[in-house]
Amino acid sequence: MAAVTRLVKHSRLSAVPSFWKAMTTATASSSASASASLSSRSDLSSRSVQWVFLGCPGVGKGTYASRLSHLLGVPHIATGDLVRHELSSNGPLSHQLAEIVNQGKLVSDEIIISLLSKRLEAGEARGESGFILDGFPRTIRQAEILDGVTDIDLVVNLKLPEQALIEKCLGRRICGQCGKNFNVASINIEGENGMPGISMAPLMPPSQCASKLITRADDTEAVVKERLLVYSEKSQPLEEFYRNRGKLLEFDLPGGIPESWPKLLEVLNLDEHEEKLSAAA
Ligand SMILES: [Zn+2]
Repeated sequence: MAAVTRLVKHSRLSAVPSFWKAMTTATASSSASASASLSSRSDLSSRSVQWVFLGCPGVGKGTYASRLSHLLGVPHIATGDLVRHELSSNGPLSHQLAEIVNQGKLVSDEIIISLLSKRLEAGEARGESGFILDGFPRTIRQAEILDGVTDIDLVVNLKLPEQALIEKCLGRRICGQCGKNFNVASINIEGENGMPGISMAPLMPPSQCASKLITRADDTEAVVKERLLVYSEKSQPLEEFYRNRGKLLEFDLPGGIPESWPKLLEVLNLDEHEEKLSAAA
C-alpha cells in the first residue's frame, strides 16, 4: 500500500464555526446526544469537515450524508462507489477487484483503505475541504486503520426504532420501467415513555409508475429483522470505539426527511448556514 500523507487541515469552512459550539449543547436536544464534551474543540476556524456517517440498513444514511455534503461543499464518499469507480476506470486495482467481486468475495480492508486514501489524497490536491464517509469504517479494525490515514472529527449515528425500519423496508418499491424508488409505507408510531412518536409519509409513485412497481425479494420482515440484528451486533463495538473518543453523535431521526433534515441541521448547528446559502442563491 502506498504511503499515505495526512490530510492538511483547510480553513475554507469558516462559515461553519458555530458547529462545534453546538456539539457542547447537543445533549440538550431531545433527539440527539453527544457522548462526551467536545467543548475543547472550539477552535473551529482551522477545522474542516471530516465526518463519518453510521446507521443501520434502511435508516437513510446515504440520503442525509449526501444532502449534508451538498450543503457543506464536501464530497460524499461511499466505499461502494469507490469500488465501482476503480472497476469502471481500469485503475491499478481493478483487475484484482474484478476477481474478488466476480467470486462474490468481500473486498479486504487493505484494498478499501487503499482506494479511500487515494481518493482523499486526490481530493486534497483538488482543494477539497473535507469529506463525509458513508459505509466506512464498519469495524474497529477499519476505524483504527482509518485513524492512521486521517483525523475523523465527528461520527454521526443515525437511528430509527426497529418498528419504523421494518415498516420502511417493507414499503420499498422500485418502478420496473424507470428504476425510480418509492415507498408506500405510511408510518405512524406512537411515542412511548416520554419519547416522541414517529411519522413518515409515503413516497407514492406517479400514475405512470404505479402499475409497474416491484418489491425486492429480500424486503421481507424476517430478512429485514435478521439484517438489523447482524448490523447491531457488528456496529456496537464500533459505536463504542467512537463514543470512548468523544466523537459519536447519536441522532434519533424524528421522522422522514421533512421532519429530520431541519432537526439534524439544528443539532449540527448548520441551520443558519443553510439559510445563508439559500439567501445567497
Ligand atoms: Zn417509473
